[in-house]
Amino acid sequence: MKPTVVDHIGVAVKSIDEALKFWQGTLGIECHGVEEVAEQKVKTAFLPLRDTEVELLEATAEDSPVAKFIEAKGEGIHHLAIRVENLEAALEELKAKGVRLIDEKPRIGAGGAKIAFLHPKATGGVLLELCERD
Ligand code: ZN
Repeated sequence: MKPTVVDHIGVAVKSIDEALKFWQGTLGIECHGVEEVAEQKVKTAFLPLRDTEVELLEATAEDSPVAKFIEAKGEGIHHLAIRVENLEAALEELKAKGVRLIDEKPRIGAGGAKIAFLHPKATGGVLLELCERD
């Protein structure tokens, strides 16, 4: 498995519009678009910073994982995503090492990336996403 860069950091917010006032307005990190990922019941805003980006996540339904996260913990850092060269192979390797996965197979996330989440119980409490981009 070849982890390369921190692909993005996911931040759970109640409102992307409100959060952009700080991230874009105050910090000056330009938002490069907002995309809805229906399967995950989230809207995502991308704020690129050189090789990585901040992703703001807003729930689009009450039963969205992001809504549940905010209900339990409040707004804040939701997950860390690390890019790998071959996600299928990385998941096979982790399975062989006995690592608990949320996604056994890659699925398509925001920006068309292949993504998979590892279980926080296997990572010392970090919701870790692996992703592969072309
Ligand atoms: Zn992510």
